Amino acid sequence: MWTCRNCNVSFDFDRTVPEVDEQGFFFLCPACDYRNKLVDTGPDAAGRPKLVQNDDSVSPNDESD
Ligand SMILES: [Zn+2]
Repeated sequence: MWTCRNCNVSFDFDRTVPEVDEQGFFFLCPACDYRNKLVDTGPDAAGRPKLVQNDDSVSPNDESD
């Protein structure tokens, strides 16, 4: 389940299609078209990229200004 950071609606994985471009992984919210950033945390047991929303575990090295 992913949650849009703009409109706060949650979507099942099968309702959203992760995309990737030069800036990284993201999905477009089906409701409001907001670009929600995703982070690839590495291959899962099946060898597929495991994409998560990183907002809940912000790195201490993230620039905050
Ligand atoms: Zn949205």
